[in-house]
Amino acid sequence: MVVLDDIISLFYPRLCAGCNVSLIKGEEFLCLNCIADLPRTNFHLISENPVSLQFIGRVPLELATSFCRFDKGGRLQRLLHQLKYKGNREVGHKMGLLFGYDLIQSTQYCKIDAIMPIPLHPKKEKKRGFNQSTEICKGLSEAMNRPLITGNLIRDVHTDSQTRKGRFERWENVSGIFTVKHSVSLEGMHLLLVDDVITTGATLEAAAMPLLRIPGVRVSIATLACA
Ligand SMILES: [Zn+2]
Repeated sequence: MVVLDDIISLFYPRLCAGCNVSLIKGEEFLCLNCIADLPRTNFHLISENPVSLQFIGRVPLELATSFCRFDKGGRLQRLLHQLKYKGNREVGHKMGLLFGYDLIQSTQYCKIDAIMPIPLHPKKEKKRGFNQSTEICKGLSEAMNRPLITGNLIRDVHTDSQTRKGRFERWENVSGIFTVKHSVSLEGMHLLLVDDVITTGATLEAAAMPLLRIPGVRVSIATLACA
């Protein structure tokens, strides 16, 4: 089968999602150069970092971090574009794995009990065919050996559709759109809430709110990229 794989890759070379070079044996989706050159923040090693400081006075989080800095026109932007608009789910999984290997080595993030993606608007998910945050979570879950919880945090359709009407009331609209379906199953857990990119933090803040009303729940936040 190894020979067959070699023959197939001769005619259909597997390309790196970050830089388009042909991948060599042992490389999956990203070449070693791209992995080494990712603009990592290492914020998971610093409790007071630019991402966690964004939430002070807004929502009481345990920990907050972002894997990489958003590099306009750079490698990370290409990868996020592949994930969100080219349907390349594997990029999300691979980035989640790399992120998870970093997080699980931190004395803080190893205390996480379960991983949870920010749900997409159901119409948007249907159109895209998948939730990019869930793909990232699958990698995180595998690397950190923690369960992935989907379908419990719900994004309400009705309220979200109003978001488009009043773009000046974005926070007001986003603040009530998330609800929890089965709160009892989450009691006492330390949850890692995951999104692809953090900009204002409004969505993550809104998603953390209903979770924090559950007895004993602590919430931490992780995103692949930050501005
Ligand atoms: Zn590459």
